[in-house]
Amino acid sequence: MEVRLLEATEDPEELICTGARNDYSEPFVGDQTFEETMETVEGDSLEEKKETLIGHLLSHGHYGPFEHPQVTFAVEGISRSCMAQITRHRHVSFDVQSMRYVSFDDVDPADVREGEMVVVPPSATDPDWVGRNQKTGQVDEETVAERDEIFRDTVADAVESYQELLDLGMPPEDARFVLPIGTKVNMVMSMNVRMLMHIADMRAAADSQWEIRQMTEELLDLAKDWCPITFKYYEENMKNRKNRLAP
Ligand SMILES: Cc1cc2nc3c(=O)[nH]c(=O)nc-3n(C[C@H](O)[C@H](O)[C@H](O)COP(=O)(O)OP(=O)(O)OC[C@H]3O[C@@H](n4cnc5c(N)ncnc54)[C@H](O)[C@@H]3O)c2cc1C
Repeated sequence: MEVRLLEATEDPEELICTGARNDYSEPFVGDQTFEETMETVEGDSLEEKKETLIGHLLSHGHYGPFEHPQVTFAVEGISRSCMAQITRHRHVSFDVQSMRYVSFDDVDPADVREGEMVVVPPSATDPDWVGRNQKTGQVDEETVAERDEIFRDTVADAVESYQELLDLGMPPEDARFVLPIGTKVNMVMSMNVRMLMHIADMRAAADSQWEIRQMTEELLDLAKDWCPITFKYYEENMKNRKNRLAP
């Protein structure tokens, strides 16, 4: 998979702090410079003041100001299964690549065996992989080789059948019914900072599936560059605790 940050609010933490200071400020924040707005916040520099205020907001559960900054990510090559999981989050806006209008008619089924078009889960190839809902633990090389073969044969056959149906004039929107749930999809998604932390609470957690966890970790890495004080605090003090952003 590939995850990129497409667009994001400039100065997200200035916006978070301005929103929060508005709540306790008699003067109108719209008429003030950011320095004036932050004047009474503890800290020697503006950066320190932002750290003080953001830490205070997060430690007290004052999450509203984190709904102001918006970020848009583009995600390439996750499974339709992972897509179904992430699109359950209702405060995120999505654009999902269509299988009604995009027909994968030029993909070589031989390449599908090698990971083109369908995501290959680690449990199909790694004998040491222990998934959360796996009934057995580690397996021997022979068993995983068998899994690998069954998995790759099945997905390559499915893509071949899909393309035969297209050749027989079946509309892509109906021919897609034979494709696996692991079929890759591209997505664009937009959310605010509070929602990103909520997604991380739920989807970076140990009981989430490996694919959505990996995607979430990549979202968090990008978020750390974009909104550094907030996501540093999140990483150090909030990550992996019980979900509290939306109790
Ligand atoms: C490990 C794991 C396993 C899962 N297994 C399943 C499964 O087997 N089957 C299944 O169907 N789902 C499953 N889910 C999905 C899960 O139940 C949620 O639907 C999904 O994670 C969206 O999160 P959310 O409920 O926090 O809602 P979001 O849409 O992310 O909304 C954020 C918050 O807003 C509030 N909110 C939003 N909409 C409403 C509303 N209509 N009413 C009241 N409050 C609202 C809630 O506080 C909510 O937590 C699983 C999730 C995880 C992480």
